[in-house]
Amino acid sequence: MTHRHEFATSGGGMLVGGVPVERLAQRVGSTPFFAYDRTLLSNRIALLRAELPADLELSYAVKSNPMPALVQHLSGIVDSLDVASGAEMKLALDTPIAPGEISFAGPAKSIAELTQAVAAGVIIELESVTEADRVTRIGAELGIRPHVAIRVNPDFEVKGSGMRMGGGAQQFGVDAEDVPALIRQLELADVDLTGFHVFAGSQNLHTEIILEAQAKTVDLLLSLAREMSSPPVYLNLGGGLGIPYYANEEPLDLHAVGQNLEMLLRERIRPVLPHARVVLELGRYIVGECGVYVTRVVDRKVSRGKTFLVVDGGMHHQMAASGNFGQVIRRNYPIAVADRIDSDDAERVQVVGCLCTPLDILGNGVELPRADVGDLIVLFQAGAYGLTASPTAFLSHPMPLEVLV
Ligand SMILES: *Cc1c(COP(=O)(O)O)cnc(C)c1O
Repeated sequence: MTHRHEFATSGGGMLVGGVPVERLAQRVGSTPFFAYDRTLLSNRIALLRAELPADLELSYAVKSNPMPALVQHLSGIVDSLDVASGAEMKLALDTPIAPGEISFAGPAKSIAELTQAVAAGVIIELESVTEADRVTRIGAELGIRPHVAIRVNPDFEVKGSGMRMGGGAQQFGVDAEDVPALIRQLELADVDLTGFHVFAGSQNLHTEIILEAQAKTVDLLLSLAREMSSPPVYLNLGGGLGIPYYANEEPLDLHAVGQNLEMLLRERIRPVLPHARVVLELGRYIVGECGVYVTRVVDRKVSRGKTFLVVDGGMHHQMAASGNFGQVIRRNYPIAVADRIDSDDAERVQVVGCLCTPLDILGNGVELPRADVGDLIVLFQAGAYGLTASPTAFLSHPMPLEVLV
């Protein structure tokens, strides 16, 4: 069973950015490493542009992969960037994207981060009433009218997300029922309330649920828009589009998502808000399938009938593949031997990482063509929430390199 992927192959081996993985390893100079394919990134954006309505803005959520070269590349082909820390904001401000096209979400923004955001002119997505007070005060101190949007914790839940971040009680956003009072408060303050943001969850592969969530989000935001004395200019509908990780998962029906958004814009949003920026904010869906984690076999051993491939990488770099990033049940991420990508002969092996813990499993009983010491193993779906979502300090191994090819 070979994983469905978009990387080019040549002579049975896999290429990233047109370069055979072994040649890439020589060029990088060490394993393990992450490699991201620039052409696949551009192709993914082109696919989104083809399927999504022309007047829908595409924002890249930097936290899914903040590698500077990758963010620079994407900044040329998306409309806006979403950041979740001061460091991500700096990265975004280093790109040609205008500060007004950068949104800053996330709980616990520090006074220093908020001050930088106000000074830069990015849109601060308010996560609470008290954060609104802090931003108002900072604006007064700096003599700048801060640009803000209210992140709304919806009064509905989006089922089927890998991680739920909206509905019920949440540390994220202002409860929908409390938003009208906050709108009145902000309209009396010296701030520029641009509009609203909803982000209800990540990694959703259920097309029907996404269509319904988008419709409910639009209804909620339009009802809140009626509470404003002048119409909002910014509606961020969130995203949460998932990618398939496991053998039993199917890709989303992006065409249906695009058609639904087209209908929502035409029938509901544009008649009342003809000029507002309407934004879809995506991380994983843009980068997740465009990157791989490459690690070399250091040892091959048999223990009581099971064959173990021990590799020089592990969960300290790619925690999600070990099943320890919010997953309830550990299942295998797609995996391959780099230079025998299409091979059908297979043996069942345990691929384990270099950490001294039984949690460090990259492939549990996976079928791979025979691999020996020195061979390169590739883990797919490593473009999002890989390196920066992993406990890199655990066991004090060196940091892996990242390349954009
Ligand atoms: C994490 C996050 C995203 C990106 O989510 P994906 O599932 O990677 O698309 C977008 N917006 C906000 C506010 C986030 O916190």
